[in-house]
Amino acid sequence: MLTGYELERYDRQIMIRGFGEEGQEKLKQARIFIAGAGGLGAPVSVYLTAAGAGAIRVVDHEKVELSNLNRQVLHWSEDIARSKVDSAAEKLTRLNHEVKIEAIEEVIAEANVSQLVAGFDLIIDAMDNLPTRYLLNKAALEMNIPLFHGAVYGFEGRAMTIIPAQTACLMCIYKGVIIEGKFPVVGVTTAVIGCIQAAEAIKYIVGIGELLTNRLLIYDGLNMKFTELKVKKDPNCEHCSHLVKKDKK
Ligand SMILES: [Zn+2]
Repeated sequence: MLTGYELERYDRQIMIRGFGEEGQEKLKQARIFIAGAGGLGAPVSVYLTAAGAGAIRVVDHEKVELSNLNRQVLHWSEDIARSKVDSAAEKLTRLNHEVKIEAIEEVIAEANVSQLVAGFDLIIDAMDNLPTRYLLNKAALEMNIPLFHGAVYGFEGRAMTIIPAQTACLMCIYKGVIIEGKFPVVGVTTAVIGCIQAAEAIKYIVGIGELLTNRLLIYDGLNMKFTELKVKKDPNCEHCSHLVKKDKK
C-alpha cells in the first residue's frame, strides 16, 4: 500500500493513464541495477530516484575528475577526487530518501558481474566501453533480467531495450566491434539518452507502452533527428541464440 506521503509525492505520474497507484506500487517494489555513475548514470539514476523506484544499486570504480563535470551532473566541483558512487548515493538520497540507494565501488568484471546483478529486476547499461557492455549483456541474458542499453558519442547517442530470449541483444547488433579510448561528448547528449533509458525502465516496470525492443534508436543532436534501425535477433548470436523464450517469474 502507498502511504499518503507517496500518493502526494507521485501524484502527477499516478494520474497517467495506465500508470495509477498500481504502477507506483510496482515502481516501489522494483530493484534496479545501474552500471556506471557517469554521464548516463547521472540522468538515469536521478529520474528513477525521483520516480520512486524501490532500490537502486550503482556500481562504478572511478573517482570524480575535473573533466567529468561537463556531463556527469550528479558530481559537482566539490566532489573532485571523491568516489563517484559515494557522490551519486549522497545526492540521490537527498533527492528521495524513500529510495534505498546502494553504492558499490568496484570494477564490473567477468568474475563478479553475476553476483553484482543477482536479485535485481532490471539492469541499466550506463557504461562507456563495449567490453563491460558485453559482460552485462551476457549476464542479463543468462539471468533473465532485461537490459536497458544507452551509448553516446559527441552529439550522438543510441538506445535499445533488450528482453532476454525475446529480442535482439547487444551482441546481435554490435558483433564484437570494439572502439577503445577517450571519446568526445557533451552533457546534453548523455541527458537525452539517459532519460530515454529511464523512460524505458519505468515503462517496463509499470507495464505500459511499447518498449524500444528490436529497434535501435539513433539520436543525432546536431541535426536534431531521431532515427530507428530495425534489428533482428541473430540466430547465430553467441550470447543469445541458445536461449529459449520463457515467461519471467
Ligand atoms: Zn544476441
